[in-house]
Amino acid sequence: MSTAEDNVVDLETKKNHAAPPDVRKVKPPVDPDTLDHLKMKDGEFWRYMYDVDKATFLDYKWQMKNSLYKLDKLFDSLEGVAPKEFLDDAAEGFRRAPMAVRVTPYLLSLINWEDPWNDPIRTQFIPVASSMVLDHPMLKLDSLHEQEDAPVPGLTHRYPDKALFLPLNTCPVYCRFCTRSYAIGIDTETVEKVQLKVDPERWEQAFEYIASRPELEDIVISGGDAYNLAAKHILNLGTRLLEMDNIKRIRFASKGPAVMPMKILTDDAWLDALSRVNDLGRKLHKHVCLHTHFNTANEITDITRQAMNVLFERGITVRNQSVLQTGVNDNKHDMTRLVKRLGEVNVHAYYVYQHDMVSGVEDLRTSLQTNLDIEKWVRGSLAGFNTPTFVVDAPGGGGKRVAHGYEYYNRETGVSVYTAPSVKPGQFFTYFDPLHSLSEDMQARWQDPVEQRIMVDEALSAAQQGPR
Ligand SMILES: *Cc1c(COP(=O)(O)O)cnc(C)c1O
Ligand code: SF4
Repeated sequence: MSTAEDNVVDLETKKNHAAPPDVRKVKPPVDPDTLDHLKMKDGEFWRYMYDVDKATFLDYKWQMKNSLYKLDKLFDSLEGVAPKEFLDDAAEGFRRAPMAVRVTPYLLSLINWEDPWNDPIRTQFIPVASSMVLDHPMLKLDSLHEQEDAPVPGLTHRYPDKALFLPLNTCPVYCRFCTRSYAIGIDTETVEKVQLKVDPERWEQAFEYIASRPELEDIVISGGDAYNLAAKHILNLGTRLLEMDNIKRIRFASKGPAVMPMKILTDDAWLDALSRVNDLGRKLHKHVCLHTHFNTANEITDITRQAMNVLFERGITVRNQSVLQTGVNDNKHDMTRLVKRLGEVNVHAYYVYQHDMVSGVEDLRTSLQTNLDIEKWVRGSLAGFNTPTFVVDAPGGGGKRVAHGYEYYNRETGVSVYTAPSVKPGQFFTYFDPLHSLSEDMQARWQDPVEQRIMVDEALSAAQQGPR
């Protein structure tokens, strides 16, 4: 079989037609930087912040107990580690942030505290006032309308064949950019209370609905986060769903592997429950997987590798969904490094999401153009099955659309328009680039409600005229 590559003939090679091909001339040696994804942090990298031995650091209970969500505790542990100006900046950030904060020692120990402002892990979890910018005027909480597509509480049935089940609303960490800030971790006091309220009674309503809809084949068990479900609940939820005739595939969604991989190494009950569900799935010829959420290669260490190896040995498929974020992974180098490192630990890069329109985290969003540019670079740099699909979760409930599949995109106003014929036929969905990615004139224009209408109408009517 001939490939495109075979047809690229190097002049050197052509000259020596009869001689055996010299492979070094066809492909020059790679720059060692391109193999950076292989160099994961190992050893006791946490020691500079936590003077504990390996067994303690790997103990998931220790990680949970020492996770920080109160400002003063966080500051105590950063005293002398982070610059004073940073602590002041973060204190103000905490006061203004819409989302609760919670972060594990594992993550804290991976942050570069010499320059925390530019660290991709800090950026995701610890708000700073200095980076906060104005929300786009078109932005709403629950921009995905998950509540509107919910036939019973905590079950979103948007696509015909699949549903999103939210059995709990707590997570091992809280991400600044969470789309479910309408439900997740409202404040630290309630978080502790709600955590106990994992409610198997409420789940029954969801099971009943799922069983009553023959078109439903695929259930995403999200949250919150499946890491926070007790082993018996993992087993119960998984078994109940797999035993339904209509259900063919289930996925547990958890940020856990990215923020506390040690749980897989030390919480035997939880791992065994997941394995048992996976084994049951195999027996019933139904697919069980774990969907996780790494956003930067810095989150993937040798501990992650050990944890992912355990899952791999047990035959548990792990897929990853990332969110494109400014300062985290919004350039071709960082995104490629992430995707390659995922491959290295046998995690399939499934999606990269355009950042949803969530209030209070405008600094994290990028323009759609950034997404398109990075996708072009990533595709082709590794195996196709390890290459994520870059998507926009169309605000207003259109569901996920391939980012470059827009009907119209005005790069000046920053308005893009999508359609989703199999999900919401006849409807148009708009996404808005963040103001900070637009010209100053355009930013001013967005402050005027009349101009807002004109810009949205322009995009919609252009989209209605059909393909560009
Ligand atoms: C993302 C999502 C799913 C799963 O979609 P896939 O493209 O199959 O990963 C299901 N329901 C809702 C509401 C979702 O947002
Ligand atoms: S882990 Fe997921 S659901 Fe939980 S806060 Fe982060 S983004 Fe939100």
